[in-house]
Amino acid sequence: MMIVMKDGATEEQVEGVVEKLHSIGAEAHLSRGEFKTIIGAVGDREKISEIPLAVLSGVESVIPVMKPFKLVSREFHPEGTVVKVGGAELGGKKFTVIAGPCAVESEEQVVAAAKAAKAAGAHILRGGAFKPRTSPYSFQGLGEEGLKLLALARDITGLPVVTEIVDVRHVDLVTEYADMLQVGARNMQNFLLLREIGLQQKPVMLKRGMSSTIEEMLMAAEYIVRGGNKNVVLCERGIRTFETATRNTLDLSAIPLVKGTSHLPIIVDPSHATGKREIIAALSMGAMAVGADGIMVEMHPDPRAALCDGAQSLDFSQFENLMADLTNLAPTLGRTL
Ligand code: PEP
Ligand code: MN
Repeated sequence: MMIVMKDGATEEQVEGVVEKLHSIGAEAHLSRGEFKTIIGAVGDREKISEIPLAVLSGVESVIPVMKPFKLVSREFHPEGTVVKVGGAELGGKKFTVIAGPCAVESEEQVVAAAKAAKAAGAHILRGGAFKPRTSPYSFQGLGEEGLKLLALARDITGLPVVTEIVDVRHVDLVTEYADMLQVGARNMQNFLLLREIGLQQKPVMLKRGMSSTIEEMLMAAEYIVRGGNKNVVLCERGIRTFETATRNTLDLSAIPLVKGTSHLPIIVDPSHATGKREIIAALSMGAMAVGADGIMVEMHPDPRAALCDGAQSLDFSQFENLMADLTNLAPTLGRTL
C-alpha cells in the first residue's frame, strides 16, 4: 500500500501515519520527493486495510500496489533514483561507463587498465578480486590482495572502484576497499547476502541472474532496499536461452521495462552477455539507445593473456574507439558522457 501525502504535508502528519502503521506492526518506508512524500506500508495486508488511512490528516490518496515489489517500484518513488559512486553518478542524464579487467591479476595489469580506462573517459573501474568460477580449477582471484590493488589503482587514477562480493562473511572486508559492491549473477538470489548488504550504505550493483525473470531481479533488489540501503543499481548481463552463438542472450527489452516499473538505475553488461568482443560496441550503443544508465565492459592490457574472460575483453584501443562511438551518439539521444 502506498500512502501519498498532500503537497506540503507537515512532519506531524507524516509521523501520524507512520505511528498508525507501526501500531499494527507494519513497516513504514518514506520516499521524499521534491513536493510529495509517499509512505510505503509493508506488512499484513488485512491489518493495514483496517486502518482508515485515507481520512488521516494530510493524506491525499491511498494506492494499493498489486506488484510484489514495493520499495523499488515507480509508484513508491516516481522520480528516478540517482546513485552516487565516488564522483560518478548512475541514473541521471549521464551515461556512465564502468570498465576494467574481469579479474585483478597483478599491480601492473590493474594499474595499466585503470589508467587506460581513465584516459579514455570511463567513470568507474571494475575488477574482480573474488571470482565465482564455474570450475574450481580456474583462477579464483587474488582475494584481499586484489582489493588492495584496486584501492591502489583508485589512488593513482581517482576512479571509484566496483568489485564483486561473493560471501556474506566478506561484507566488512570488501566495503573497506570498494566504492560499490557487485552482486554477481550467481548470487542474485543469495538472500542472506542481499539482506546483509542492505544493512550497510555502500552502493550495490545487482546483476540479473542468468535464469532470472525481470520480476525476480526486482524482488532481489527489494531485499536490499528493505534493509535500508537505497543505493541499488541493476545490471542486465544476458540470460540463458537456446542460442549458442553468444555466451548469453542480451535482453535489451529489460531496460525500458525496468524503467517503466522501477525507479532504480539499470545498466548493461555487454561483455558477459555476449562473450564476444567483436559485438560489444554495437550492443553498447544499443544499450544507450534503449535508455540504459550506463554500461560495464571488460578491458585488459593484453586480452589474449587474460586469466579470465579474455575473449570478451577489449584491448585499450578498442576501448578508446568504443568511448568515441558513445560520445558521438550521446547528443542524438539527449545524453552526455
Ligand atoms: C563479473 O562481472 O565479473 C561477473 C562474474 O559477471 P556475472 O556475475 O554477470 O556472470
Ligand atoms: Mn568476466
